[in-house]
Amino acid sequence: TLGGMQDFELRVMRLLDHAEREHWGRELVTRWADGSETRTTWAGVARDAKKLAQALERMGMKPGDRIGTLGMNHSRHLVSWYGAIGMGGVIHTINPRLFDEQLVYIANHAEDRVLFYDKAFQAIVDRLKPEWKTIEHYVVFDSDGPDGFEALLSQEDGNYRWHEGPERDPCMICYTSGTTGNPKGVLYEHRSTMIHAMAEVAPWVFNMSPRSVILPVVPMFHAAAWGLPFAGALAGSKFVYSAVNDPKVLCELMNREKVTHSAGVPTVWLGMFQHIDETGETPRYLQQVTIGGSAAPRAMIERIMGMGVEVKHLWGMTETSPIGTAGTPPPHWEEMSLSERLDLISKQGSTPFGIELRVVDDEGHVQPRDGKSSGRLQVRGPWVVKRYFKADADAVDPDSWFDTGDVAVIHPDGVMQITDRAKDVIKSGGEWISSVDLENAAVGCAGVAEAAAIGVYHPKWDERPILLVVRKPGSEVTAETVRAHLAEHVAKWWLPDEIHFVDSLPHTATGKLLKTALREKYKDYRLE
Ligand code: ADP
Repeated sequence: TLGGMQDFELRVMRLLDHAEREHWGRELVTRWADGSETRTTWAGVARDAKKLAQALERMGMKPGDRIGTLGMNHSRHLVSWYGAIGMGGVIHTINPRLFDEQLVYIANHAEDRVLFYDKAFQAIVDRLKPEWKTIEHYVVFDSDGPDGFEALLSQEDGNYRWHEGPERDPCMICYTSGTTGNPKGVLYEHRSTMIHAMAEVAPWVFNMSPRSVILPVVPMFHAAAWGLPFAGALAGSKFVYSAVNDPKVLCELMNREKVTHSAGVPTVWLGMFQHIDETGETPRYLQQVTIGGSAAPRAMIERIMGMGVEVKHLWGMTETSPIGTAGTPPPHWEEMSLSERLDLISKQGSTPFGIELRVVDDEGHVQPRDGKSSGRLQVRGPWVVKRYFKADADAVDPDSWFDTGDVAVIHPDGVMQITDRAKDVIKSGGEWISSVDLENAAVGCAGVAEAAAIGVYHPKWDERPILLVVRKPGSEVTAETVRAHLAEHVAKWWLPDEIHFVDSLPHTATGKLLKTALREKYKDYRLE
């Protein structure tokens, strides 16, 4: 028999209703690419999202339809999320840093029907329009013209009730290119998104409240901006958005708007340090900085902690909505020395309620939580992927464990530590570069017999690719030639920082490149 409590589907729009009702006056500030600024409130976002939902319906959008965006961080991008979800649609944030083939693939695969985009990405749109088969409407976020976002909203009255339905309906799709092959779509549900937001505001994760002023540097096109647009509505926080990631602008905004919380990949904070060193200007109101997407270096954690700011180190993936673990001060934090604290925060952290972790060896045996036994990291929980969009099989085992492709140990206190990566990719400045794609492109170059791309440490980008090349007998192909050839096949920022010629490469028994041996060999290699 049913219990005695009310039906209350965990629908995302209830987050915005809450923010509108309880935190209506809390502000959202945007600094646009052209330097201009606009300010709205949670009430304003709710009003505009209703108008957008009406506009989307007028365009013929139906519940379940995918609505694409190519946009940086700003309040209109946020409105597009809530407007699309509010009419029952699925918001699809496309990562503009992907290269053309991937951009074409994912918009077609998602069957996006509308695309909202920033003027800054006009060239991408002009180039790919003929190849995007399903997009019927293009709307420019930051245009004052008749094709612009505000013009679209101005035709509606905002008298709208959100589309209702079951909590297991989809609300958002994010593609990840973090493995080989075509990008894969992770289809978030209302329920998974809502539970994730509820977990995320907790003190041991983002620690968000109505007193928080959040400047997310993590882009809205990257893993749902770590869920902050949803958690922020739940918490009634103020948002400060910048459509450009210039440290000078960020620092100025942080001080003027009294930003307490910021979040981004490690590369972002390096830019910030440089600005601080050059100008002496420091973010004075910051209380907490969240670093994720790649391992936060110990020296970076130390420097930020030295500014009197709490550092949260997050691990997660698009497949985990994306929060998996967060560095959380343990009960004895006050008694810990600086070095013990740095040791702890340098690891990837503990799970919030809802996420379960385990480490298994190559035979599938679960490893003890002894801080020594390493193996493949697996994860499960209500906001972890089960099956990729349009895939014909589940991405998890029968007990719902999802294999992350990360290699880790779990310590007795539950703290997880990433020790290696089983997936063959390179993460540069928070974005993926496929080693296999680089290698395939390289062997297409005349004179190249075999090539291996590996990620090596880089002080600014965390990792950068280098390419090891075996020449064909008799060939004298040069690094310039290989680089010029690669440039025709991959995005510019994928090009290897160095190309080394070697006599041979190590192989496994089955003839595959032995990447672990190569990574081990270049473990201490440093790029400038
Ligand atoms: P995001 O970059 O938003 O976290 P992706 O799905 O693009 O999401 O990448 C997820 C992968 O990034 C993880 O599987 C892991 O390899 C790496 N990663 C994320 N956070 C960390 C971290 N704190 N330390 C080390 N690696 C990380």
